Amino acid sequence: METKIIAVILSCMDCRLHDPDAGIIMQLRDILGADAVYLPSVAGPDGSIIKGGPGKEKIVSDIQIAVDGGASIVGTLSHYDCKGYPVSDEEHRIATVRASKELGESLERYDGQPVSLVARPRKKDEDFQYTWVVEKISVH
Ligand SMILES: [Zn+2]
Repeated sequence: METKIIAVILSCMDCRLHDPDAGIIMQLRDILGADAVYLPSVAGPDGSIIKGGPGKEKIVSDIQIAVDGGASIVGTLSHYDCKGYPVSDEEHRIATVRASKELGESLERYDGQPVSLVARPRKKDEDFQYTWVVEKISVH
């Protein structure tokens, strides 16, 4: 039996990201080379992790379930224009990398390198299939 590659990516509850036209799952599958993607969602994923506290604990506990269930890829997907964590685009990128790192360190039985991703709305003149563009951010 072929082993499926499963990812668990902490995302935002923003309805625009979950609209089929946003193609978030399809893009994540392509970018991560995953067969399936868990998409647990909160208001402002990057901010929720780096602020810590009970919010972070609940997220880590949920993601741990996916990891224990066989997810081998873990990460954070933030997005621009986020009402749950209203900071600048650049601050989102920095916070997302930090959140992914903290998430990876908070999990048990996970020794992978967490991925950081950000989604931005497609520009009007952009020839792209979906309404949101997901980009993988490198850790510097
Ligand atoms: Zn948001």
